[in-house]
Amino acid sequence: MPSKKQHVFFFGNGRAEGNAKMRELLGGKGAGLHEMTRIGIPVPPGFTISTEICRYYYTHRKQYPGDLKAQVVSALTRVEKIIKRKFADSENPLLVSVRSGARDSMPGMMDTVLNLGLNDQTVRGLIQRTNNPRFGYDCYRRFVQMYADVVLGIKSRQKTDSDPLEVILDHKKKIVGAQSDAELDTKSLQELISEYKAEIKHCLGVEFPDDPMEQLWGAIGAVFGSWNNERAVAYRELYKIPQKWGTAVNVQAMVFGNLGETCATGVAFTRDPASGEKRFYGEFLINAQGEDVVAGIRTPKPMVDLGRAMPKAATQLQRVCKLLEKHYREMQDIEFTIENEKLWLLQTRTGKRTGFAAVRIAVDMVEERLIDKKEALRRIEPDQLNQLLRPIFDQQKKELAHRDGRLLGKGLPAGPGAATGRVVFTADDAVKWKKRGERVVLCRVETSPDDIRGMDAAQGILTARGGMTSHAALVARQMGKVCVAGCEVLHVDYSARTLRVDAVELREGDWVSIDGSTGEVIKGEIPTLPSEVLQVLVAHSLDGKKSRVYQQFAKLMRWVDDVRVLGVRTNADQPDQAQIAKAFGSEGIGLCRTEHMFFQGDRIQAVREMILAEDEAGRRRALAKLLPMQKEDFKAILTIMDSLPVTIRTLDPPLHEFLPKNDAEIVELARVMGLPVEVLHNKVTVLQEFNPMLGHRGCRLGISYPEITEMQAQAIFEAACELRLAGKNPFPEVMIPLVGSRQELQEQKSIVERIAHQTQHAYGVKVRYLIGTMIELPRACMVADEIAEEAEFFSFGTNDLTQTCLGLSRDDAGKFLPSYVLHGLLPDDPFVSIDRDGVGALMQIAVKKGRKKRKRLEMGICGEHGGDPKSVAFCHTIGLDYVSCSPYRVPVAKLAAAQAVLAKTS
Ligand code: PEP
Ligand code: MG
Repeated sequence: MPSKKQHVFFFGNGRAEGNAKMRELLGGKGAGLHEMTRIGIPVPPGFTISTEICRYYYTHRKQYPGDLKAQVVSALTRVEKIIKRKFADSENPLLVSVRSGARDSMPGMMDTVLNLGLNDQTVRGLIQRTNNPRFGYDCYRRFVQMYADVVLGIKSRQKTDSDPLEVILDHKKKIVGAQSDAELDTKSLQELISEYKAEIKHCLGVEFPDDPMEQLWGAIGAVFGSWNNERAVAYRELYKIPQKWGTAVNVQAMVFGNLGETCATGVAFTRDPASGEKRFYGEFLINAQGEDVVAGIRTPKPMVDLGRAMPKAATQLQRVCKLLEKHYREMQDIEFTIENEKLWLLQTRTGKRTGFAAVRIAVDMVEERLIDKKEALRRIEPDQLNQLLRPIFDQQKKELAHRDGRLLGKGLPAGPGAATGRVVFTADDAVKWKKRGERVVLCRVETSPDDIRGMDAAQGILTARGGMTSHAALVARQMGKVCVAGCEVLHVDYSARTLRVDAVELREGDWVSIDGSTGEVIKGEIPTLPSEVLQVLVAHSLDGKKSRVYQQFAKLMRWVDDVRVLGVRTNADQPDQAQIAKAFGSEGIGLCRTEHMFFQGDRIQAVREMILAEDEAGRRRALAKLLPMQKEDFKAILTIMDSLPVTIRTLDPPLHEFLPKNDAEIVELARVMGLPVEVLHNKVTVLQEFNPMLGHRGCRLGISYPEITEMQAQAIFEAACELRLAGKNPFPEVMIPLVGSRQELQEQKSIVERIAHQTQHAYGVKVRYLIGTMIELPRACMVADEIAEEAEFFSFGTNDLTQTCLGLSRDDAGKFLPSYVLHGLLPDDPFVSIDRDGVGALMQIAVKKGRKKRKRLEMGICGEHGGDPKSVAFCHTIGLDYVSCSPYRVPVAKLAAAQAVLAKTS
């Protein structure tokens, strides 16, 4: 590192060398302290050691650059001048706090040391200045204990979990009959300090450092060191914070909230972070130091009480909060201390908030003219809208569960929302338990179409294997079910009926909670809260005018619709799904997977008959059973979506999802089909494929057995014609899957057209319709111009396109893909967010070639990426007409589409 480079940035007395924009270098806390100082908010003076030094520290065997020391000493001198006290001075000592502060906040993950600079001499100076011996020794006692833990690591050197200094403290309290730390008198505190030091010597073989400068460097090293402690590393892994960023260190003059009844310390939000309500929200403790608020030793008081206890400081705090919010034009999360009625701010940062709060704050701030509508739309993470639609966990209860160590693991957040229920392991049990009034979470290694009723009965679905496009994830999202998929740490043992994570075991019937918005799997029951928006829009059980949450959601969605260009459709194959999507403003159905229509009831039997039929006659018999079912379903969906496009895909079943799974099922099917069990058994064996996802599926099935496509076209056009006759305006778009060449499409299209003409003729009506194809094979992208000669629309099936472009099996990738993402080999799971360089490039080729041949070729996407905000932005960029996503993601996709426009214009 070159010399003369600035590593240390001073702030104090209205002047600061940093500002709010320097988060990267100064960390979030540092940048906030510098900015507050600049705008005249009372902040104790101090300095920030940059994140660059943290990186240097780790790349140079925990050494610092040669010129750091001088810069620290010089900054410390400036602090001394402002505060008019001297570090290590025995008459009027300056004490400091040493705190971490990364670019993104990592609450509670790294270390802090308070009251630094105390020894047997300086404590006397502190006592003299404050005229308060108990306070002096309390600070000293706290300092020795904190330093021994954070810097000397006394706890981690123990064989047991117990903290030896905590044992001494408890013992002392017992002897003197004190209920809490606050009841310990001066003499006891003095004794404790000596006893602590003796114990430190005994346990660690070193003297407690008396030299404040040595203490300071010890604390700085410990804070840098805490960047890589186990929990911080794990936190960054969970929240995708780069491991290489490093933390800054903030050294700041101490102010004291524990000097008596005119002192306090607390945290506050400028608006309620849970509801977004414009009210000053926070908690404080009188006569306390920072860690007391979080330690839970004393119960903090609500902010209203501060007005009564210290009206002047409370008014000042409100004024400062208003100023901060106006300055940042954003809700702030602050830490403060009041020392003898004087207010000091120790931190400000953008407050984390729930989805509810995000919407409310954004909408309110527009009305307050703090921000404009565009900024409001930019402020909300599209995924946050899910919280307004799904039941959610009571956040406080969830945090409690975390603190109690009940987090079992994290899987993929596959179906947003909160579910809590009893563990069951089979779909049948889920149905049975639900019937007797139990709430259940269906826990499977992975799910299959056989599980569909169980999935429907369950509050949520938890799988140990599978990715974001696994059966469980796909179906759950579409059903609007909460789902955590691919939680690889879970060991599901069907025979023992247990679910195990390391030593923790859950048995059938035990409670488990899953958060499908974050992927968390938590032991035990956590209460959920219902969604008002759904009550208004879908259940119609709540008057929209009576729900503020709904009103604000609706307002926001109006702004979204004004801005976005991209259309938003939905993937739905059941009428109720279509209904929900329409209530959310879906502009059509972008994918109706006809094979999914067979998952209900006994229909799967007829599909199996069709798949396993010996000859065409047998197949036609099975198809005849399916035709009326399909027709009714199409009618229902076309009716709901009246005049909006409904893209119906011809059959595309990966065979393994539909074949009978066990002997009992084969025996039953043989009975229905009137075949010997042996014959059927052989047929099932013959149909087994090595890689069913690349096997006899998609249009290949319709090409081998044209009667399947015929039956489906007939069901579609009979449904549409009957609706026309009833005065409705159905608009089917028939979509042929897994097409790789013009000829494949041509062949299937000719069948559909023939049936369309015949049926319209027979009914004597005309139906508006299109015939198009999915683009889900690399070859289809490369010959998109040829395919466009036949296709009236393209719909990118990015699930398969990702699978085929990357050579990654959709069903097996879960085993290794997460570690690819973790280690930075891939920026994101490509089944979640479009791999722009590979899959995206193919899509661009297809768009260009397709539109060259057919200028107005309608183009959309119906892979799961259609509901992923980043992928939606990409689809906007390459000029698609619409995205199609699961019903509950319609608002998310709409907001992402609006943000894509704003990103271009900003
Ligand atoms: C796709 O491949 O992206 C798609 C939508 O089809 P499916 O997931 O049904 O294969
Ligand atoms: Mg596909």
